Amino acid sequence: MSTNPRKKCLVEFQLAEQPFRPGEVAIVGAGPGDPGLLTLRALMLIQQADAVVYDRLVSPQIMELVNPGAECIHVGKASGCHYVPQEDTNELLVQLAGRQRRVVRLKGGDPYIFGRGGEEAEFLVDNDIDFQVVPGITSAAGCASYCGIPLTHRDYSQSVTFVTGHRKADQSLELNWRVLAAPGQTRVFYMGLSNAPTIVRELIAHGLTGDCPVALVERGTTPQQHMAVTTLWGLEATIAREGFQPPTLIIIGEVVKLAEKLAQPALKGREALATKAITASAGGRPA
Ligand code: SAH
Repeated sequence: MSTNPRKKCLVEFQLAEQPFRPGEVAIVGAGPGDPGLLTLRALMLIQQADAVVYDRLVSPQIMELVNPGAECIHVGKASGCHYVPQEDTNELLVQLAGRQRRVVRLKGGDPYIFGRGGEEAEFLVDNDIDFQVVPGITSAAGCASYCGIPLTHRDYSQSVTFVTGHRKADQSLELNWRVLAAPGQTRVFYMGLSNAPTIVRELIAHGLTGDCPVALVERGTTPQQHMAVTTLWGLEATIAREGFQPPTLIIIGEVVKLAEKLAQPALKGREALATKAITASAGGRPA
């Protein structure tokens, strides 16, 4: 409990600010995985929800925070393997809201960044369902911070671009490669693993040098975070050698050079604590 009454009021204000009404859908960003990166509003909504429709990108640690009485429905998609077609997910949201449930559509990262949140919101509007969208920390921001990579830096990068490395129904990647290859910027490819050869070929063909630093981050911000630093030339070999799987981000630009210097000792300490806690709960008795 907070000993500072003003602080306590602020938190209560945040939580009480918007009651969650039956029949409403909240499209909520869950961030990249670490439950500490949820927003206060996201937490409030998942704790009030009657139904939670969630993706495979939402971490189990976050699902543990959901109202235990809520009906949880998994509609996750793996790359190239669609568990539930998007149209069915849209329809499900409308049906649940029609039954006067308080529905959370919980999505990894930010709902409006490569998350089809826009398509779902459009469908809700078309069906006269009340909705709200709660932004989340997109994986590019979360993973970069946890890996010691500032996405912009006055000395190295004046802009950052979030790019999809994957098109609908496996269409070929048609991006503005000339613009993406220009110096002084950071490019973050979401869903880029299977098109990594194209990304490397096109960026080099449009003028980026093969020794440009690249970071791969799989399951960033979670206890399973796996990160490697390589170059454009080394990207494909690193993916194969280290067995990178989705969800992985590919971060390309000079800022990646800072990863070693800015690696966070505090996060390492926390990982060790988490491992200790897991070991204790698996085998030990509470002290
Ligand atoms: N809306 C999400 C992105 C959905 S697209 C967001 O804002 O982050 C799915 C892609 O996001 C994955 O293929 C991967 O490239 C990236 N991604 C999501 N979570 C990730 C994580 N924890 N670590 C690494 N990449 C992640």
